[in-house]
Amino acid sequence: MRRFIVPFNLTSENVTLTEDFAHRFLRVLRLKVGDRVLLCDPRGSEWVAEIVGAGDKTVRLKLIERHFSQLEPKTHVTLFQGIPKGEKMDFIVQKATELGVQRIVPMFTKRTVVQLSPERAKSKCERWQRVATSATEQSGGKIVPDIALPLTFRQALEEASHADLWLLFYEGAEKPLREILQPHQNVNDVAIMVGPEGGFDPSEVAMAQQKGAKVVSLGKRILRTETAAIVAVALVLYELGLLEH
Ligand code: SAM
Repeated sequence: MRRFIVPFNLTSENVTLTEDFAHRFLRVLRLKVGDRVLLCDPRGSEWVAEIVGAGDKTVRLKLIERHFSQLEPKTHVTLFQGIPKGEKMDFIVQKATELGVQRIVPMFTKRTVVQLSPERAKSKCERWQRVATSATEQSGGKIVPDIALPLTFRQALEEASHADLWLLFYEGAEKPLREILQPHQNVNDVAIMVGPEGGFDPSEVAMAQQKGAKVVSLGKRILRTETAAIVAVALVLYELGLLEH
């Protein structure tokens, strides 16, 4: 059954979808009256719904029954990502969403090459939020990750320092991930930090360490930023037993 994430809470049994949802249902997917789909709302509640009517630009559905799929991991994972060049951030957002992060915070660091005006940053985040929504639908996730507006490194330090476990991935680190995660199996809130193509400046690593970050290695090879982000998220979720849902 096809699954869709609607941008409003499913509170009434009668649901009307308009504009791009209606277009997608009727023109792209050629769904018709009597077909059943899964609707999932921003709170993560999911319903089997049946199409009961369709107009030119609207689709009317009736909620039939609650659908309980796998629960979201109990641990809240935030990826703080040094903004990379080009389309790499789309890729990172898509893969981190598929894996199950709950929040992605783009970061301006000392070596970030990309410059974004506030308007440009807003439209980029709206685009990344759409990428996250479709990756959540595709992967069967229940809650779309929140894509935050970009923060400076100092602002990101502030936010990450409140996590139960804060990991900054640095190619110059000695400690492997497994050793760091061993004593932290029951954490509720994890912050993962990955640098842009140019990496973190050593002064940024020192600042983060001072505020409580654990600096972690992914081995001797230097990974591309987009590779490191995905590997870091996957390994952290795996080591914390969160990929078993
Ligand atoms: N500027 C660095 C250099 O040329 O040596 C490379 C930075 S790497 C392309 C981008 C980011 O990926 C780094 O900031 C780090 O967060 C992560 N990364 C890459 N390889 C890593 C490794 N072996 N261990 C930990 N983090 C790594």
